[in-house]
Amino acid sequence: MIGSSVVFRTRSWTVLLLGLLTTASTAAFAAECPGHPDALGTSRTLVVDPREHPRIGTMQYRETLPLKDHEVVLTFDDGPLPKYSNQVLQILAAECIKATFFEIGEQAKANPEGVRKLVAAGHTVGTHSMTHPLTMDRMPLDKAEAQINGGIEWASAAMTDPSKLAPFFRIPGLMRADGVENLLISRGIQVWSADFPADDWRHISPDRVYQLAIQRLEAKGKGILLLHDIQPRTVAALPKIIRDLKARGYRIVHVVPATADQPATPTTPVEWLLHPPTETSPIARWPAVPNFVFTQTATLPAPSLADLNTQTAHQPLMLPSKTMAQADIASTLAAPGRDLFAIPEGSVEVLLSTTLSRRAATRLAMAAEAPRAGKGKVGKTQAQRTVRAGHGAPKHAAQARTRAKSTASRPTRVATSVKKPA
Ligand SMILES: [Zn+2]
Repeated sequence: MIGSSVVFRTRSWTVLLLGLLTTASTAAFAAECPGHPDALGTSRTLVVDPREHPRIGTMQYRETLPLKDHEVVLTFDDGPLPKYSNQVLQILAAECIKATFFEIGEQAKANPEGVRKLVAAGHTVGTHSMTHPLTMDRMPLDKAEAQINGGIEWASAAMTDPSKLAPFFRIPGLMRADGVENLLISRGIQVWSADFPADDWRHISPDRVYQLAIQRLEAKGKGILLLHDIQPRTVAALPKIIRDLKARGYRIVHVVPATADQPATPTTPVEWLLHPPTETSPIARWPAVPNFVFTQTATLPAPSLADLNTQTAHQPLMLPSKTMAQADIASTLAAPGRDLFAIPEGSVEVLLSTTLSRRAATRLAMAAEAPRAGKGKVGKTQAQRTVRAGHGAPKHAAQARTRAKSTASRPTRVATSVKKPA
């Protein structure tokens, strides 16, 4: 009973806390959206530097905007077209949502007031070429550049303050090509793809647009939604999309370009991946070799001989070479003298006891004492036993026997524990 009471109380506090937080955030958004207390609102502004992340949108690129889970960026292409663009603007205004618009030069030229309305409402305005050709993936680069310039020229011409134009570009039909992208990037313009479309340019119902928008967002959990403010089905679907985003706990993020006055929002590289790898998720491919090392212009000072702990500073460093490693060592090193393996009488027990079994060592120690009693007649026998007690091969036994014979007349013993010349 006590346990369930505690659980109940904990749940109550959790519910109360969540309620307070929800009320607080709603109140915060509502304060920014007078007259629309139930507005979805815009939860934060993300400032991006196009030069740091020049291509975004997982429909085509590795990176996308550094959004948190349940964060969405709304984008609208192909305007301004007053009939529908104005309705989209009203719907967004009623929800206090800030979005990004990719305008066509010809449309801006025909409806400059539509561009000014976007700026006045605080939306971000990028461009989408001059005439919306679906061939930018294969047209000559000079023609592609003319398309890019036309869009920028007429969109900025429509603005009271041309500096309000964002260096954001979306290639018409997402018909990307390396040449076009490199051209844009070289001019500091960010190439925007998307994370998911809602197919609102196809002949489908507004309800289908809504379904696709939500289904694809739910599949990725966050991201850039691609819509068109020139389509009646988009106008019809947008209120329902926004209501559902709010019901599902999604938050709108407004993206603006970095300026001298407004630096980019601090992010880490991994945040620009839709699903950053975690320690618990296996990685199927090896990470790419980082290139930041190779772009360094400064070089480290070369180490001195003192750093290498050389004893003689003027002696050249001798490194082992393949030739030396393969050389016949026996022909270059002097053969060890026989005396190297001979030890004074009396110390044999100590040596043997460290390498032989206790039983064998005892036996040999006794034998070592024997010559003194038996007038040196057991030298040969001892050497043979020593070899047997160890694990010497017959070849070594023969060598030991020979050594034992040759040293029998001297007061030393063969240290048979040393089987191989070092
Ligand atoms: Zn388009």
